[in-house]
Amino acid sequence: MAHRMLGFVHTEKRMPEKRTADDRRRDFDEIYGEFDHAGAQEQANRCSQCGVPFCQVHCPLHNNIPDWLMLTAEGRLEEAYEVSSATNTFPEICGRICPQDRLCEGNCTIEQSRHGTVTIGSIEKYITDTAWEKGWVKPRRPSRELDRSIGIVGGGPAGLAAAEMLRAKGYRVEVYDRYDRIGGLMTYGIPGFKLEKHIVQRRVDQLVEQGVRFHVNADVGGTLPFAELRARHDAVLIATGVYKARDLQAPGSGLDGIVPALDYLTASNRVGLGDVVPEFESGRLNAAGKNVVVIGGGDTAMDCVRTAVRQGAASVKCLYRRNRANMPGSQREVAHAEEEGVEFVWQSAPEAFLGDRAVTAVRAQRIHLGVADATGRQTPQVIDGSRFTIDAELVIKALGFDPEDLPGLFGEPDLKVSRWGTIGIDFRSMMTSLDGVFAAGDIVRGASLVVWAIRDGRDAAERIHAYLTSKAAAEAPAVAAE
Ligand code: FAD
Ligand code: SF4
Ligand code: SF4
Repeated sequence: MAHRMLGFVHTEKRMPEKRTADDRRRDFDEIYGEFDHAGAQEQANRCSQCGVPFCQVHCPLHNNIPDWLMLTAEGRLEEAYEVSSATNTFPEICGRICPQDRLCEGNCTIEQSRHGTVTIGSIEKYITDTAWEKGWVKPRRPSRELDRSIGIVGGGPAGLAAAEMLRAKGYRVEVYDRYDRIGGLMTYGIPGFKLEKHIVQRRVDQLVEQGVRFHVNADVGGTLPFAELRARHDAVLIATGVYKARDLQAPGSGLDGIVPALDYLTASNRVGLGDVVPEFESGRLNAAGKNVVVIGGGDTAMDCVRTAVRQGAASVKCLYRRNRANMPGSQREVAHAEEEGVEFVWQSAPEAFLGDRAVTAVRAQRIHLGVADATGRQTPQVIDGSRFTIDAELVIKALGFDPEDLPGLFGEPDLKVSRWGTIGIDFRSMMTSLDGVFAAGDIVRGASLVVWAIRDGRDAAERIHAYLTSKAAAEAPAVAAE
């Protein structure tokens, strides 16, 4: 029976049940429950089926949101899953961790008309979690095998999305990752309270079933020369992400107890996965019982403060030089952090770290936001005489990431990079300056989002396929003439 949709006129926006802050603080489980069927149906029915769906325009994957909302409202979940998975390789992951307030939901017409957005992300998650439960999520095995192989450097979302598409077309696909587990930042960066690890692992298992080969502990440019990879495969995709942590130069910044964000989050994720992590055991990367100061205002900083709360920190403060309205992190994540007991110290920047051998306090200064610079952002200016001190036995630096020096690492001086070190590609072919070498994800865009990495990975798969197809066509007459 067709539903009428437009339910927003009589049905309030409702999210799936959110666990209380007290409950959340005790573990690393996700903070939202799941819709029940009636809840998902009712919320999907709020959509007004816009002629120009701005939700879809602002989704990096251009997901066909109105259609899968209508199918959900009509109880046709298997079809909803077919439509949703046609454009998204990992819809249940995006449903969990996309900053929807900045993408699909933030641009939903009924949000703009102040009725409260359609809860697109939660419904996307519900559709795909149900599909997994019912056994509708199947590996896309190729109908024929092609005699060409592709090497993918990096098993994060960009590499995995490309691997899935290329394998489905029949290519032999091998993914090389320097870590001991696949998933990139979805496994070792993003904490379990946003994305539980079994959600990533079941996707990796399914790629194995599909026939993708994974090589873990394969450090390309280190133990495994890049040139060897190029010789082994007909095309190579670089999807290595960005990992060089931005640092902070201030008196005392070399003291013990001042650590980079990704070291801290990786240790926490490893402990959650059952690994023994000596630096966690020794207390270096463990916030338990400590006063913690996190420096930065992005999503990584939000993940650090919320991890510290769960590890049992005595206090957790976030120091950020701009104000709430100008922080790069998602407002939704800030709200979660505040509920969980994090204190935000806005418009403040560290001046020095105090302590003999290990840090005991951060000396900070207040910031005034001055006139806007060329980028349109107000320039932070130190307010004279505004010094103050915060106790801290653990300081976490979450100041963002830059690319590593890939031309140097890979021994490929002809690999062109931008002035920021990201890999330069031809935006039509997605090929780098090296023939047959493509690139996708954060290593091209700079630190970005999982949904953009998926989009890039899918696009790169199409471009690699086009490249190999035209190469085969060009070679064919020569072979015939021999
Ligand atoms: P990555 O996920 O970084 O994967 C790259 C892979 O390449 C890694 O597995 C790495 O080991 C491997 N690799 C690197 N160099 C080599 C080499 N030389 N040889 C072999 N392998 C190599 N995005 C969201 O959308 N929502 C969020 O909530 C969110 N939270 C985040 C939280 C944190 C703490 C961080 C750091 C990022 C977060 N992001 C989030 C961003 C998101 O994780 C990234 O944009 C995305 O993972 C990029 O995908 P990628 O495939 O390009 O790279
Ligand atoms: Fe929204 Fe992300 Fe899903 Fe697109 S992929 S519909 S942006 S949650
Ligand atoms: Fe539905 Fe909102 Fe998308 Fe319009 S913008 S189609 S109301 S989800």
